[in-house]
Amino acid sequence: MSTDRYRRQTLVKELGQKGQELLATKHAIVIGGGGLGSHSANLLVRMGIGSLDIVDNDTVDITNLHRTSLFTQEDLGKSKAFVLQEKLRAINTEVRVRGINQKVTKENIESLVKNADVIVDGTDSMSLRFIINEVSIKYNIPWVYAGVYETVGMVMGILPKKTPCLQCISQNIPESISGEIPVLGSLPAIIASIQCTETIKLLLGKPLAGLLIYDVWNQCFDTMDIKRNPRCPICGIKKL
Ligand SMILES: [Zn+2]
Repeated sequence: MSTDRYRRQTLVKELGQKGQELLATKHAIVIGGGGLGSHSANLLVRMGIGSLDIVDNDTVDITNLHRTSLFTQEDLGKSKAFVLQEKLRAINTEVRVRGINQKVTKENIESLVKNADVIVDGTDSMSLRFIINEVSIKYNIPWVYAGVYETVGMVMGILPKKTPCLQCISQNIPESISGEIPVLGSLPAIIASIQCTETIKLLLGKPLAGLLIYDVWNQCFDTMDIKRNPRCPICGIKKL
């Protein structure tokens, strides 16, 4: 591992040299390469994750450019996964980066995530998030939920059977929205930054914050300390 690359980061006591070395042994999978996923993948690669898969079956569209990281106008029409693979590899050759041009489904998710130490939510689909949640609990793989809408974003790290899962907090998060989701361009960057930090904390075994809600327009943070639902049909101790 290049020591110079991470010198300023290893000076941070929360991480240190040991944390940096541990991070370099970890594998993350980012599901979705849009507003959240492109920013989160960018940060994880720059900060020194060991390996990273990024999955998306979409192509870069002009409507993506206001809120994403790394894409340029020259990338329009190209596979998001492959563009991100190329750019992320150029940022940090010490990280093994793989772009996967595939739609994530209930059928293929297990094979995609089985070797991951953490799943990073870069999707904009609630139904896909519930699929991620189920597979996370089933295989004991932590994941970090994040969502954005207009000027408000939400983030929560989920440690299976230890902290509330997405189903446990389903009363507190917005339902699926059909059609185009309105998003202020500055919002995904900050939400992804928090998501990336929660991802690294999960990988290093540090305690997580609860559900964080941030309004980038009105500058207000709110955290909700939600308890696990013992009757949760996904992670509950007592099955319904
Ligand atoms: Zn649950």
